[in-house]
Amino acid sequence: MPLAHADVVTKLNQIADTALVQLVYVSSLTLRSRLSTTIFEDIESKAREYNERNFITGALCYGNGHFLQCVEGEKSKVSALLERILADERHQNIEVLLLQTVEQRSFTDWRMRMVFLERWLWSPATKQQADQLSPYLPFVPHGWSFERTEQFLEVIKTFENHPHVNATGITYNALGNMVRHIAAPHQAFLVVQGSLSVLLAVALVLLFL
Ligand code: FAD
Repeated sequence: MPLAHADVVTKLNQIADTALVQLVYVSSLTLRSRLSTTIFEDIESKAREYNERNFITGALCYGNGHFLQCVEGEKSKVSALLERILADERHQNIEVLLLQTVEQRSFTDWRMRMVFLERWLWSPATKQQADQLSPYLPFVPHGWSFERTEQFLEVIKTFENHPHVNATGITYNALGNMVRHIAAPHQAFLVVQGSLSVLLAVALVLLFL
């Protein structure tokens, strides 16, 4: 069950400032943010610089209008980041699924590794490789249990080199990803169809002139 806000505060207060903590929360994009074509780039440009400066590692998953983010770092740094994230009006329904002290980090990269959890954003190759994600789709992470959240983290931890994981940060917004994944494998088809459409338009114009 998700932790109530008061429980999160209490739990954070009980942890030493320098302890290494792992926090996982989920949220939903607001309608306005769903229409933004730069939402991922905007978040990434802040997160990349801030997280590196504060030694915060983790992963940011997006699918079906929902985010699931895992952040790891010193408690004081994670607390400060959580405050900023809670105040962010681009998302809503924020629920903390997991908050615990850990011996070591699960994610070694300070950049917010982006994992897209929508089948239509995947290439055919990715679909084959990403069978392990099927139990988590459609992606509706609100209300996930502690165990399910941990199992999910175990899965995405292994995705270092998967094509749908953008290890260098978030470079495509939702629209960009759609075009890349849908259009790219069908380039030849689209070129032929485009050419035929132009020829048809020319033929119709000539016919009726
Ligand atoms: P400011 O930059 O002053 O912004 C104040 C408010 O303005 C924000 O709360 C937001 O509501 C709004 N805002 C900011 N930029 C934009 C924009 N480009 N378009 C529209 N509205 C905007 N930040 C990190 O540093 N690390 C992370 O790991 C991280 N993960 C995030 C994950 C999610 C799902 C979301 C939605 C945001 C994340 N952020 C992250 C961003 C974070 O919430 C703050 O917006 C950011 O840290 C800047 O905080 P600030 O106090 O400097 O606010």
